[in-house]
Amino acid sequence: MSDSVFVPRWVILSVVLGVIGSGVLVALQIKVKLQEAAALRAEIQRRDQRAATFRWGGVEWPLTLNFWGIVLHTSAGHFERGEADASLLHASIGDPLCPRCHYEVWPCAIQGKCGNCQTTFQLGLSGLETVSDGVRFRLKLDVYRVARAQYWQNQTGGPNR
Ligand SMILES: [Zn+2]
Repeated sequence: MSDSVFVPRWVILSVVLGVIGSGVLVALQIKVKLQEAAALRAEIQRRDQRAATFRWGGVEWPLTLNFWGIVLHTSAGHFERGEADASLLHASIGDPLCPRCHYEVWPCAIQGKCGNCQTTFQLGLSGLETVSDGVRFRLKLDVYRVARAQYWQNQTGGPNR
């Protein structure tokens, strides 16, 4: 004698739908979490890029936050022709550092050798008396030109990737 309990069909149906529904909900939540994790990873990579230094002439040039702001719309030519202010260039690229010990290299730039660890570099300044503001501007302009080209190559998946 099975004492079968009468369960209306709609109750069974809604229980089944409820189970399926919460399963879908959990799957959606997992998907959102994965997307959040991917977004976070991309953000960390982006910040790493923004904290990057750029190797040129055998030394490290810090690319400051300004660089990533102006690289989109300001060309090296803008600086060259005075259409963009030189102070913007100096704000977008920091003073060069020794690639090995990270000491500032301006004081020993003419000698082409780090005053701290003797690492050599090639800024092409030998024979100069002093590193004038004009010389610093020219060097940073060259760095800007090359760093900007590399930025666009990375953006468009070109060479150097
Ligand atoms: Zn050094």
